[in-house]
Amino acid sequence: MLGNNETILLIEDDRVDIMTVQRALQKNNVSNPLHVARTGLQALDMLRGTNGVLKINPLPALILLDLNLPKMSGIEFLQELRKDAELSSLHIIVLTSSNEPKDRAAAFEYEVDDYIVKPHSFDEFTRAVAAILALWD
Ligand SMILES: [Mg+2]
Repeated sequence: MLGNNETILLIEDDRVDIMTVQRALQKNNVSNPLHVARTGLQALDMLRGTNGVLKINPLPALILLDLNLPKMSGIEFLQELRKDAELSSLHIIVLTSSNEPKDRAAAFEYEVDDYIVKPHSFDEFTRAVAAILALWD
């Protein structure tokens, strides 16, 4: 489980998936602040405090990253993040509908902590989130 003051950043463009993650966190009794970015560019602004966006402080203990995002793909986001000295060591878990081996390989090249294919049922989704949180035990 995450510490009390630790925050989570969800990078996801799909409204339904955002709500599903929020509900799955609630179901797992996680009350840590959840920040949501709808694009990778918006997420970078939130992590850096650039372009007039308030910086997430302290930086999130966990980033949940969708790969199929508008403008900048999740993989491009990872590439950018790992080049940034202040952000390069953040913990990232990919949460995507892509089961493509090339996406998985690309994500692990950027040292993500885990790669989870979005489950179809809410119960499975809740269990997937529980498994993610267990990594922080
Ligand atoms: Mg998407």
